[in-house]
Amino acid sequence: MTMNRTRSAQLYEEALQHIVGGVNSPSRSFKAVGGGAPVFMERANGAYFWDVDGNRYIDYLAAYGPIITGHAHPHITEAIVRAATNGTLYGTPTELEIKLARMLKEAIPSMDKVRFVNSGTEAVMSTIRVARAYTKRSKIIKFAGCYHGHSDLVLVAAGSGPSTLGIPDSAGIPTSIAHEVITVPFNDIDALRAALERWGDDTAAVMVEPIVGNFGMVMPKPGFLEALCKVTREFGALVIYDEVISAFRFHYGSTQTYHVFPDQAAVEPDLTALGKIIGGGLPIGAYGGRKTIMEQVAPLGPAYQAGTMAGNPASISAGIACLEVLSAPGVYEEMERLAIRLVDGFNDAASRHGVPLTINRIRGAFSTHFCDHPITNYEEAQQTDSEQFARFFRGLLEEGICIAPSKYEAWFLTTAHTDADVDATIEAADRALKKVL
Ligand code: PMP
Repeated sequence: MTMNRTRSAQLYEEALQHIVGGVNSPSRSFKAVGGGAPVFMERANGAYFWDVDGNRYIDYLAAYGPIITGHAHPHITEAIVRAATNGTLYGTPTELEIKLARMLKEAIPSMDKVRFVNSGTEAVMSTIRVARAYTKRSKIIKFAGCYHGHSDLVLVAAGSGPSTLGIPDSAGIPTSIAHEVITVPFNDIDALRAALERWGDDTAAVMVEPIVGNFGMVMPKPGFLEALCKVTREFGALVIYDEVISAFRFHYGSTQTYHVFPDQAAVEPDLTALGKIIGGGLPIGAYGGRKTIMEQVAPLGPAYQAGTMAGNPASISAGIACLEVLSAPGVYEEMERLAIRLVDGFNDAASRHGVPLTINRIRGAFSTHFCDHPITNYEEAQQTDSEQFARFFRGLLEEGICIAPSKYEAWFLTTAHTDADVDATIEAADRALKKVL
């Protein structure tokens, strides 16, 4: 029996008439999983979605990361209502902004000074401007497959090797801008060193997702981040951590503040970009770093960056409330416990059905790649079976399990998921995996 999604299909036809591609972010389309109408959701609560046809889903999309406390968490909802009641936008400073800035600084001490913006894209874009202003250099080195939002510089892919300049990943990006970017493979310190030897004198910053969330969940190899920071600084460039996904995802803080795993040292970047979780489900971004570097930013310094909506009381209040929920003891351990149960269940089912499945789990988040090799960089992630993933995705959807329609995206546990959800998901995945080959 297939789920009735008639209304979603109708709304998609209608959306196509008015909204480009029918979606307001391309990652929401089902293009990568065989096309057709995406599911139109009507409401969400806790770990669940209900679509416009009345079907219920267990949600592991978590809106691509921000919804770590589940949907409509009462503490966050209350904070948003309170903020809205007092006026949604002032265009003046507020005390709330200080509170969230202080919470971020306490959790991520390398962020001496903070500035709030409205999205991860803006946060990353701003760190690049500040790094360029501070170093008076123009080039950026990034890693293949890491996603840093949709601003021009970071939508540039690799050339043919570490010693070539980038080529635009999107139409509308001038070659002159792409030539400011060098892309090297993640987890490949030799490639980074080679790029710095060639372009180091012109390089303002090396930008990295310290734990990758955009070609599956991928850990840096032991020593990679330390070596990255060391070699980058040898060439006088800054290190920028894009922690838009990773901050507050694995513990209360970011990947720079703790030994994520026994074989990883905590290394501090010069600048950090944040987003997603720190807004509790409302639009937000933030960036920050060492005082001397951040003093480049207007009104103190010559690097201009501004925002009408930045630091709006609703987003800031939701962010504070979300971090309050996350600061309770045991929250991350519980998400990890459930994630371990899911991954064990999926692995059992995959081996029962003879399906090659590689799951990279990092605490309460994991990715499902159809392959029998490890995933440590983008190239390996690209080589996994997209059609098997698409069948898995569709099988899960039919079972009322919602994940992102892309093999590169992660599954996210939230504080709202329960053992019963996990049991139901393992059973659903078993049936979906059976039909994958
Ligand atoms: N950086 C990373 C690591 C991201 O995953 C994303 C979004 N998925 C962004 C930046 C961009 O954030 P936003 O979509 O809020 O602009």
